[in-house]
Amino acid sequence: MCDSPRLSRRTILSGLAVGFGAIVLPKLPWIPEALASGAPSSVTPDQALQWLKEGHTRFLSGKTQTPHLTAQRIAETASQGQHPFATLISCSDSRVPVEHIFDQGIGDLFVIRVAGNVADTDEIGTAEYGAGHLATPLLVVVGHTKCGAVTAVVKGDEVGGSIPQLVDNIVPAAQRAKAKGLSGDALIVDAIRENVYQSLEDLRNNSEELTHLEHQGKLKMVGAVYHIEDGSVEWLPDRLSMANAATARDAIEQAVYSWAGLWSASNVERYLACYAPSFHGKPFANRKAWEAQRRKALLSAGVITLSIDQLQISLQDANHGTATFLQGYQGKSYQDKVKKRLTLQLEKDKWLIVGEEILKA
Ligand SMILES: [Zn+2]
Repeated sequence: MCDSPRLSRRTILSGLAVGFGAIVLPKLPWIPEALASGAPSSVTPDQALQWLKEGHTRFLSGKTQTPHLTAQRIAETASQGQHPFATLISCSDSRVPVEHIFDQGIGDLFVIRVAGNVADTDEIGTAEYGAGHLATPLLVVVGHTKCGAVTAVVKGDEVGGSIPQLVDNIVPAAQRAKAKGLSGDALIVDAIRENVYQSLEDLRNNSEELTHLEHQGKLKMVGAVYHIEDGSVEWLPDRLSMANAATARDAIEQAVYSWAGLWSASNVERYLACYAPSFHGKPFANRKAWEAQRRKALLSAGVITLSIDQLQISLQDANHGTATFLQGYQGKSYQDKVKKRLTLQLEKDKWLIVGEEILKA
């Protein structure tokens, strides 16, 4: 690099990225070094997160073990390769010494340090190397309080050289924090959190490899803010899963109203398709018997009105939820109102009913 003064770091690294991108990017063709030795592919994302949390607790309580700093570890990692259990993107700030904060040693953490813990092309490529090639099950973006890079962007400070290109990744985070009407210290604190979320978003939006690993459950992506005042790490709630939960609730609501509408209109086949193939209502022994009863009931009732009131949705996890509501049935010669609970499951991108029961009012 030193003998090519006309090329910037970014140009050289992106040139390299093209070099191994051609081999690497299609679909994780690297054989993880981890598999060769049996570690850390056996480490789950939650286990890796737990190790970081335990190390941080040791750091905070002054009981650090400063593990893996022995001559034996140096020799081992040199001869057998590296098997870190987490990839981290943190700021270059000298007050954020990543290995120390988490009480880890040689070969434990794959660390990307860049001012403002941004995730641009080079950082994303490096994160892909950590999570993909080295198979770390955890990727953490660590922001920190009093971050100069974030503060400069929020305050609109003039910066020169190559710094504008570096900090432009922080701009959307600063805008989001400002849009909340915050000012002073509160604005900076919020922008620092938003900037962690921004890096996570940039990683997900610009790396198919990382999102693929995340969807497979092989990688967990987490945000954190390190407090330089007292040395503590604040783990940020997962905004993506919060957004997913909101989407899932909306989808369940839609499925319930669609089910009620199809029943009202006696659209028998589409009504039956609202139920999972394995579903058959009690007391029917099988799907066929249940379907026959439902066909007969819907067709003989003619057009009815089915109302849904007081709908409450709860999610058990990303793929399972329940909808509880007051169901009003108004037919030609019959009407009733019952409290009902539908249990739904996400199957092939569709929320299907797997359970239906009338609750005691
Ligand atoms: Zn910083």
